[in-house]
Amino acid sequence: MQEFLKENRKLNLSAFRTDEHSWVGNILDSLAILNGSGDLFIGAKKMLDLGTGGGFPLLPLAVSLPDLSCTGMDATQKKIDAVERITRSLEIKNVRLICGRAEELGHDPGLRESFGLVTSRAVAEIPVLLEYMAPFAKKGGILAMWKSVKIADELASSVKAQELLGTSYFKTYTYDLGLGWGERCILFFRKTRNLPDTYPRRNGAVKAKPL
Ligand code: SAH
Repeated sequence: MQEFLKENRKLNLSAFRTDEHSWVGNILDSLAILNGSGDLFIGAKKMLDLGTGGGFPLLPLAVSLPDLSCTGMDATQKKIDAVERITRSLEIKNVRLICGRAEELGHDPGLRESFGLVTSRAVAEIPVLLEYMAPFAKKGGILAMWKSVKIADELASSVKAQELLGTSYFKTYTYDLGLGWGERCILFFRKTRNLPDTYPRRNGAVKAKPL
């Protein structure tokens, strides 16, 4: 947390700038999946955090699960550089970092369909996120999305995207971080089949025309 706050004073990585805000809003919030997932990804060897920003949920999970090989991805080089400095200073060995956009990297054969767990917090609405995340998951792998708002409408609007992207919603874990932080949730989807090369669509179509 202290290494993150140091970076956050230099760069605008997160609105959580105090010890309490960062501990609860970033670290405990990232770790909530460990309560919510049961044994879902016990067998997963590799996870990808898409749009990791200042390293959440990537870094708390990497520290807590040292046998999991963790990849953080973000479109912004300065954020990737900040997370790199944090991992170096804390000697976190199970994290690797990649700068790029999900729309492009989702076609990279070294990354595509290769993760047992794909996470994402505060990156986009569900239909867009599904198209960003699903190409990276192995068949049978899990997608986990952190959401702080009421998600019923967003989830209902993602039925077509789930179908086209071979992903199927199966549960929501709702939790309260206490201290007046209110309810948040993590949505879980399972990838049920491999995808044609058409996904993710290129040239901004994912965001401009959500499935
Ligand atoms: N997950 C972090 C950061 C959220 S901010 C947290 O919860 O604190 C959203 C991040 O997603 C930004 O850093 C942005 O650069 C990244 N992002 C948005 N769209 C992306 C895309 N298509 N591919 C890769 N990264 C993306």
